Amino acid sequence: MCVQAGKATLAGMKWIMCGALGLAFSAGALAADAYPSKPITLVVPFSAGGPTDVVSRALGQAMSKDLGQSVVVENKLGAGGTVAAAFVARAQPDGYTILIHHNGMATAPALYKKLSYSPMKDFEYIGQVADVPMTLLGRKDLPPANAAELIKYVSQNKEKVSLANAGLGAVSQLCGLLFEEAVKVKMTSIPYQGTGPALTALLGGQVDLLCDQTTSTLPHINANRVKLYGVTTPSRIKALPNAPTLQEGGLKGFSMKVWHGIYAPKGTPPEVTARLTRALQQALKDPAVAKRLDDLGAEVVPVDKQTPEGLRTWLKAESDKWQPLLKTMKVEAD
Ligand code: ASP
Repeated sequence: MCVQAGKATLAGMKWIMCGALGLAFSAGALAADAYPSKPITLVVPFSAGGPTDVVSRALGQAMSKDLGQSVVVENKLGAGGTVAAAFVARAQPDGYTILIHHNGMATAPALYKKLSYSPMKDFEYIGQVADVPMTLLGRKDLPPANAAELIKYVSQNKEKVSLANAGLGAVSQLCGLLFEEAVKVKMTSIPYQGTGPALTALLGGQVDLLCDQTTSTLPHINANRVKLYGVTTPSRIKALPNAPTLQEGGLKGFSMKVWHGIYAPKGTPPEVTARLTRALQQALKDPAVAKRLDDLGAEVVPVDKQTPEGLRTWLKAESDKWQPLLKTMKVEAD
């Protein structure tokens, strides 16, 4: 209440203060209520047509229905996803620039000597999205017919075998490293700026191997345009029930899946991040999104992971798991 007794000047001041506070309060409430009042940019760290891009477009469309504003996908390529993450870390913390990223958020600090952002300190967390299995593929005419033959083939041909990836810090690179570690062979890695171009090179026969998410590889596997050596998860997957796991193929303990999270720059107001979390959860409830992801072998995460805490805890656990491992592997960029 701003009606006060007292000297005229004091009362006047109180009016002014109450008025100012009231204005500030209602402006804050209005800003939160009005958010979003313009399109939101969802920054994707890899090329168009790749797995992260596919998930982002399905999600962005559904989130925009709930937010009443378009969610515009912007592919910001380079350095295994770190260019995009650095860009969002420095963006205005107003909820209009957000990031989708995968396991690369947990691995980059161990891979890059000079990283201009901290995944644990420079972001607000919106929530996790979906998990995606990976597949180890060969070009159509690569001689080995299955994983057991592939293991022999790479042991004999070593660095003559080329292994494509989507850049240092990409999950395809991580999967390639795990494969090299499992077979104890160093191959020749060829980095691209995303799965889009890496897959094009594999389809064109310019590279021998690529390990990447089902969200991009499934159509090519089903159309028999590539050789499938196995899935990276410990169990077979619904989308490819006849495909053996790499563990079945002889790579004991081989296990990898890709997870995705949505981030906003540090300092984004809590009411804005809460609104984004709500839109994420609504989008993931949309049967069209679930079906689109399911068809591509991806699985929407349980609702308790579609939360800031669900993402933060998972990112921390994944960072603790991968960073020491990558440091012992001594893979580093400048
Ligand atoms: N699958 C890619 C990776 O290896 C990224 C992408 O293009 O989505 O990280």
